[in-house]
Amino acid sequence: MMDERRRMVQDLMERGYIKSEAVRRAMERVPREEFVPEDERHRAYMDMPLPIGEGQTISAPHMVAMIAEILDLEPGMKVLEIGTGCGYNAAVIAEIIGPEGHLYTVERIGSLYERARRKLRSLGYDNITVIHGDGSQGFADEAPYSRIYVTAAAPYIPDPLMKQLEIGGKLLIPVGSDKFYQELVLIERTSADDYRSRNLGGVAFVPLIGKHGWKFH
Ligand code: SAM
Repeated sequence: MMDERRRMVQDLMERGYIKSEAVRRAMERVPREEFVPEDERHRAYMDMPLPIGEGQTISAPHMVAMIAEILDLEPGMKVLEIGTGCGYNAAVIAEIIGPEGHLYTVERIGSLYERARRKLRSLGYDNITVIHGDGSQGFADEAPYSRIYVTAAAPYIPDPLMKQLEIGGKLLIPVGSDKFYQELVLIERTSADDYRSRNLGGVAFVPLIGKHGWKFH
């Protein structure tokens, strides 16, 4: 598995998804096979999303690499993830922000929340807190965050997420109404009242369901 992981990382570097030493090191350390269901383990190091139950997916490795690079993370940062899924993406981000940083991650489906929480704890990720709830409302208890990223597609940018960013903080979120195509949007809070937004191109995510997401699916 270790060899397969190294090959995957090498491939992501050659294809330009992994650019920094921090992301390379993180993705070399996190065992993706631990996060996928038993019968998907043989595909753990293929660059594709895989089913994790409840109609949800673990994101493709290149998407996790892209998110980690775009977020421009630093050790010690406080980060909020919306959509824990199996917890793989969370583990990669937690490796980069290190023990002085902290990642809060919110999942709406109880069984996925429970499985991710146990898995992350058993792998020793003390700098991750998994929360069961509707992440379209963010997680106000620990705000503000240096970075917020959403791994499910929203119909619009949820206002609570913008408000929970620190000044200088960044929010990465897929936005769009099409099931198979959304735009990845990066928002930077430049002052208390100002935000700058950039469109980073097309992606395909499962829907964000909640108060500031889709109502039915
Ligand atoms: N980050 C994951 C990984 O490691 O690959 C992928 C997550 S999956 C593509 C998106 C997740 O978002 C699903 O588990 C889904 O249940 C969750 N989700 C959807 N709406 C949500 C909401 N309002 N709050 C929290 N989680 C939500």
